[in-house]
Amino acid sequence: MAKYIGPACKLCRREGEKLFLKGARCFSPKCAFEKRGFAPGQHGRTRQGRSERESVYGHQLRAKQRARRVYGVLERQFSRYYHVAQRTRGITGFNLLQTLETRLDNVVFRMGFAENRAQARQMVNHGHFRLNGRRADIPSMLVKAGDVITVGDTAKKTTFFKELPDIAEKRSCAVWMDRDLKNLSGRILRLPERAEIDGNIDEQLIVEYYSR
Ligand code: SF4
Repeated sequence: MAKYIGPACKLCRREGEKLFLKGARCFSPKCAFEKRGFAPGQHGRTRQGRSERESVYGHQLRAKQRARRVYGVLERQFSRYYHVAQRTRGITGFNLLQTLETRLDNVVFRMGFAENRAQARQMVNHGHFRLNGRRADIPSMLVKAGDVITVGDTAKKTTFFKELPDIAEKRSCAVWMDRDLKNLSGRILRLPERAEIDGNIDEQLIVEYYSR
């Protein structure tokens, strides 16, 4: 599946807020948003001033774009997720967020095995993880309650994964999953509740965007 390969910091500047797409750098003075907190491009500074006067459509579009960028999903797949969420029983906006949260790359990130979702995606793509004992190298695979994620035996022998438990210990793990850093594995205890999904996403605006 295609992915965005441009500069991540530009996305934060475009959204007018920190999306924390890089990990440690986002909390350091090197953060591009701290230095240039205006939209990218020739008219970035002018546009920033106009954002307060954004139309209703503008707000809906920005909410959708923000969610897409936080989870690193391109338009076509995001729109597919939305339409599946719409057909699923329950609240469409919440269904959409739950789907995004249960992507394998997001789960690896939430377990603290990666510094950011882009790194998690790459680790999955390289085939370092097993889902219920089977090789899982598709970042968009969806997990469900009871699923077990483990690092493959070959990957465990690499320096990166040998050092990972000490690094991952300093990172938090989402409450809806459990991890075993010693064995580099984790289990999905249940699906996340709305309050457990952060990222400053307004799913209602996303639903309004697609319901136009
Ligand atoms: Fe965004 Fe992180 Fe880049 Fe700062 S360092 S602009 S928070 S991706």
